[in-house]
Amino acid sequence: MHVVVTGGAGFLGSHLCEALLERGDRVLCVDDYSTGDPQNTAHLGARPGFTLIRADVTAALDIPGPVDAVAHLASPASPPDYHRRPLATLAVGSRGTENALRLAVRHRARFVLASTSEVYGDPLVHPQREDYWGNVNPVGPRSVYDEAKRFAEALSTAYRRSLAANVGILRIFNTYGPRMRPHDGRVVSTFIRQALDGEPLTIYGDGSQTRSFCYVDDLVRGMVAMLDSDLPGPFNLGNPSERTVRQLADLVLEATGSSSGLEFCPLPVDDPARRRPVITRAQHRLGWFPLVPIEEGLRHTVGWFRSRADGTAEGRTAREPVGR
Ligand code: NAD
Ligand code: UDP
Repeated sequence: MHVVVTGGAGFLGSHLCEALLERGDRVLCVDDYSTGDPQNTAHLGARPGFTLIRADVTAALDIPGPVDAVAHLASPASPPDYHRRPLATLAVGSRGTENALRLAVRHRARFVLASTSEVYGDPLVHPQREDYWGNVNPVGPRSVYDEAKRFAEALSTAYRRSLAANVGILRIFNTYGPRMRPHDGRVVSTFIRQALDGEPLTIYGDGSQTRSFCYVDDLVRGMVAMLDSDLPGPFNLGNPSERTVRQLADLVLEATGSSSGLEFCPLPVDDPARRRPVITRAQHRLGWFPLVPIEEGLRHTVGWFRSRADGTAEGRTAREPVGR
């Protein structure tokens, strides 16, 4: 297949590009490096079949040549990233998604949207199935991301209904692994960096809030299965093994062997209290389920952070959680 991956120089996108190249697809990665890193795809540069274009997908997205599938991942994903870029986040979820959809329709290509568990907001129903409509504050600090993704889902569905576009929606739950930016502000990358630097792990609130953490290789297998299918979804993709943030801190301390302490900080506004995917739909329709236990995934991730030359020395940009 000829696959266009928007956001391909980001954390998830770079792993997806790699997986597609591994099986012989040709990959065209489009990224503006706003939250991505050229280093993430540097090792793919010499591979036959890999092309990288630096471009903002909110401008026109014209790709010459064959396109069989479009994986639309371009969007800030970490809360500090989308808080810093609120308008760009809304633009990429709306205009960017429409440009990517148009590209797919022009080429009669498969289109897969990287949506998010954030469409469920601070869920009132637990665990979350795809038929739950969510609990999102439309004017809260997270809304620029949540509502952009909800709009992207609505737009993609309208393209499927009115233009018979071959659209599929994935709702991705918290995913971690190598190539997360040490200073992206997400909890796994932050805890690992802090543990390796001997700094206290910053726990927001009392740490009783939960997330369900999926290792990147598992997630990417699900994305590839969705690209290969004609199914509309939406499908939750995530690891249902739910942990409190406090438990995650202990797991990171164990995986790093660090003796860092804990620092309790105020909880950001609208921080979801609980999150766990029901994945039976993806299991039955895509034959997908996660395989990597968190202890193993953290070991790989810590190994990568350690091996990265500047993994613990990147310029420190203290980012306060929104609402503190
Ligand atoms: P990331 O920030 O590492 O990657 C996003 C990429 O998109 C970056 O390389 C960035 O430069 C690029 N980008 C952003 N705006 C762009 C634009 N206008 N034009 C071109 N490129 C642009 O984040 P990630 O964790 O890899 O997330 C990838 C996708 O998956 C996002 O759409 C995100 O919403 C979704 N997702 C991720 C997670 C997760 O846990 N990682 C969870 C849910 C959903
Ligand atoms: N979190 C934390 N300390 C940090 C960063 C995040 O306790 O240094 C918490 C955050 O408040 C949230 C959870 O960890 O409850 C997951 O945060 P992340 O930003 O990784 O993902 P999201 O909130 O988007 O699910």
